Amino acid sequence: MTNISRRTFNGLLGATGALALGGSLSSCTGGPKIVVVGGGFGGATAAKYAKRYDPSADVVMIDAAKSHYTCPFSNTVIAGMKDMAYIDRKFDGLSSLGVKVVQGMVTTVDPANKAVKLADGTTFNYDKLILSPGIDMKWGALAGYDEAASELMPHAWKAGPQTMLLRKQLEAMKDGGLVLISAPGNPFRCPPGPYERASLIAYYLKKNKPKSKVLILDSKDDFAKSGLFKEGWEKLYDGMVEWVPASKNGKVTKVDAKGGVVETDFDKFKPAVANIIPPQKAGMIAEKAGLTNESGFCPVDPNTFESTKAKDVYVIGDAAIAGAMPKSGYSASSQAKVAARAALLSLAGAKPEEFTAINTCYSLLAPDYGISVAAVYAVQGGKIDGVKGSGGVSPKGQNYQFRKKEADFAEGWYSSISRDTWG
Ligand SMILES: Cc1cc2nc3c(=O)[nH]c(=O)nc-3n(C[C@H](O)[C@H](O)[C@H](O)COP(=O)(O)OP(=O)(O)OC[C@H]3O[C@@H](n4cnc5c(N)ncnc54)[C@H](O)[C@@H]3O)c2cc1C
Repeated sequence: MTNISRRTFNGLLGATGALALGGSLSSCTGGPKIVVVGGGFGGATAAKYAKRYDPSADVVMIDAAKSHYTCPFSNTVIAGMKDMAYIDRKFDGLSSLGVKVVQGMVTTVDPANKAVKLADGTTFNYDKLILSPGIDMKWGALAGYDEAASELMPHAWKAGPQTMLLRKQLEAMKDGGLVLISAPGNPFRCPPGPYERASLIAYYLKKNKPKSKVLILDSKDDFAKSGLFKEGWEKLYDGMVEWVPASKNGKVTKVDAKGGVVETDFDKFKPAVANIIPPQKAGMIAEKAGLTNESGFCPVDPNTFESTKAKDVYVIGDAAIAGAMPKSGYSASSQAKVAARAALLSLAGAKPEEFTAINTCYSLLAPDYGISVAAVYAVQGGKIDGVKGSGGVSPKGQNYQFRKKEADFAEGWYSSISRDTWG
């Protein structure tokens, strides 16, 4: 049985995007039970904000890992600019705000009984469940690329051991080698990510192995911030980075990880290092819970992020189908705040608010060279779309000071979103 205190309810309704402050009247009866799966950008933000919006809420956040390695800035680890500690986010800050943090793998979601079960058998009941499990790889969707192959040709598209594996392979390769990056078709996590990675690998190679080259084989004909990336590659890396679109035989169709071979329809490559970023789908638990559709991702109500397949279950972040919003940490964080509010409002019997959110995304091409894109999103015609006239990419043709400033903003963005999410 759910209880939302009168003061909290009024706070939620009256707050202008702000918080339900003040004591709770429901402490003697128990607040609403909110269970969050995932302690990454979406999950940790949802847990923190649910607790903020209703301090009486009993908020449990479950993650398989002890802490979360962020994908943002993982490319700087691969390029040797930072180490793993720089991208390691602990959950202590959330615990001190009153979120119950549980380490465990969620293996079952049971919407009929409003319960989730962990691998060790522990069960948590909920009034509202928020799922932010991120992505999983579609193993086998690219011929020859399965989990075993990723130990030889890393994807490094989830930060952690894969990040270090790719870095070590770059460190071990001889000068003059070819680094091949296979970029997937849409939709996938972090649309500008493969191109930031190519840039920062080129930065590492230019400094350490200057006869080497980065080749991006793409399953698409265009990519996020492409004009700015291409301008930067010309300025910084002079022929070291080559991008091949799908229409020019860029789509990788097969890999032989043991043989070290990567194939397109008409070519075969034997790179020194192969970084294969495969097609993706929502994190496994979303699929297991029956929340995905034929796309592999989860359809949701665009105003609340409640699943269209299970009542009282909200899916946010990379796992959700969020219209025009890119699969980014910033998007996940924006959606988390919306879903946490919507869940509590629903428990209080109130109508959901209209969805608006923002996304900003910085990419580094070198430690002192940044570019960015920003947009505002709203529900239009039943779907999340960019608000006309909002946002855009940062301008081309800028000088060193401008690009350095954007690189500084990128670090600032990372530190402030980290504080907002886990702090
Ligand atoms: C190289 C790279 C660079 C990027 N750079 C940026 C950037 O600069 N800016 C930006 O905004 N975004 C960036 N992104 C994208 C960003 O990382 C993702 O969009 C974001 O992490 C999505 O958040 P999420 O909560 O959906 O998933 P995640 O942050 O991946 O969190 C999912 C969490 O759920 C846990 N989990 C999953 N399944 C279970 C289960 N069954 N039981 C328990 N726990 C589970 C996982 O352990 C994980 O901690 C980048 C991505 C990559 C790959």
